Amino acid sequence: MGLTITPIMPAEDYLKRRPVDVGLVGIDERCYRCSKAHRAIAGVVVAEAEARACLGLGDDLFLDFDSVAGALRDTLDPAWLKERKVGPLKVRRSRQRPEGYLSNGCVWCDIILGSFPLSEAVREIEPERLPEHVFAHIPLPLDALLQAASPWLGQGGCGPDCDCGANDGTENEPELSW
Ligand SMILES: [Zn+2]
Ligand SMILES: [Zn+2]
Repeated sequence: MGLTITPIMPAEDYLKRRPVDVGLVGIDERCYRCSKAHRAIAGVVVAEAEARACLGLGDDLFLDFDSVAGALRDTLDPAWLKERKVGPLKVRRSRQRPEGYLSNGCVWCDIILGSFPLSEAVREIEPERLPEHVFAHIPLPLDALLQAASPWLGQGGCGPDCDCGANDGTENEPELSW
């Protein structure tokens, strides 16, 4: 406390890049190849009410792994992940997606833990119980979350009910014109 941060970028950009507390949702399993216990990141829950409003999430506070994979890869240190039994987030190939994609892998043998089975595992959890599967909290920049939420927000801005100031009102004008 007592430290004043002077934004050197335009205020809107500063607001968009502010860190938002998210919970990492983990799926704990035994590896289908090496049978050791490991954990995969299935996505994040956004706990902060202000950010949830900004993202248009309401009570549906889950963003799946694929939509935040890039931001998680850029933020999380592989050694930190390893301590939590999570393998490095990197591009791996699968039979279904031979071109490869940013994925979870077994911390012990590095076999791909595909996004589809992970999303199936999440679907079996009741939404209100997702926070019980959070194994760590980390800050992610709001703009990464805005991108993750872009399928329902349009590109680049925050939700129409949000007055946080991160929305510059240009990129998704069609939805927001009044
Ligand atoms: Zn394994
Ligand atoms: Zn907002």
